Amino acid sequence: MTTNEKVLIKVENLQKSFEDNKVLDGISTEIHQGEVVAVIGPSGSGKSTFLRSLNRLEIPTGGKIYFEGVDITAPETDIDHVRQKIGMAFQQFNLLNSKTVYENVAFAMRVIEAPGRIIRRNVPAVLSLVGLGQKGRSYPNQLSGGEQQRTALARAIANNPPILICDEPTGNLDPETAYGIMKLLDDINKRGTTIVMATHARDIVDAMQKRVVTLHKGHIIRDIEKGGYSDEA
Ligand code: ADP
Ligand code: MG
Repeated sequence: MTTNEKVLIKVENLQKSFEDNKVLDGISTEIHQGEVVAVIGPSGSGKSTFLRSLNRLEIPTGGKIYFEGVDITAPETDIDHVRQKIGMAFQQFNLLNSKTVYENVAFAMRVIEAPGRIIRRNVPAVLSLVGLGQKGRSYPNQLSGGEQQRTALARAIANNPPILICDEPTGNLDPETAYGIMKLLDDINKRGTTIVMATHARDIVDAMQKRVVTLHKGHIIRDIEKGGYSDEA
């Protein structure tokens, strides 16, 4: 089904080395509009490096990445413009602790110079979407882990990016809270946002029945359309 959709990201023979440590060793894949892609694999297999390359937080040592047809590995590409279209969330929520929940989300919109009236309209809407409609005035240290990740996800989608990249979004959460975050990611995907996430949450990947890409030593060793951990040999 998804393969009929537009290609959002095309990765061609992506390589990344840190000194003589080959971390990504020839990754080629396509990510289509509307997909949810779980990237799994042992610690050190290159999941974070792969996700960070999609945003040019890492600069590849070889290969190409096209975002909506634009080669983001080319030095002349305006990466700030591309980054505006990519939301990102991490295991460590990376919130600004001196700012309220509302301000954390609004900040992401101010960075791209969104007009004040749009910020005043969108921030409450996105907080309500992530289930934090009543928490706008709280500070991060007044929130549970799950609420902090919801805030980070609200911030990541505040500018309505076509794609959301999450690196171990449930890594710091207990299983029940993690499940809630995965349900939220599913809701975000249903609104049209493509999602690529690295995860260790085996049972959740099984339950989601979405595409699963398995990395091992910098290679894709499996890519299953509606997979799960349990499909692994
Ligand atoms: P994963 O997310 O699957 O655990 P990573 O992409 O974080 O894997 O790391 C893969 C490998 O790359 C590891 O061996 C790690 O030590 C190495 N690595 C990652 N980032 C750096 C860096 N900035 N400098 C040197 N080595 C790094
Ligand atoms: Mg990682």
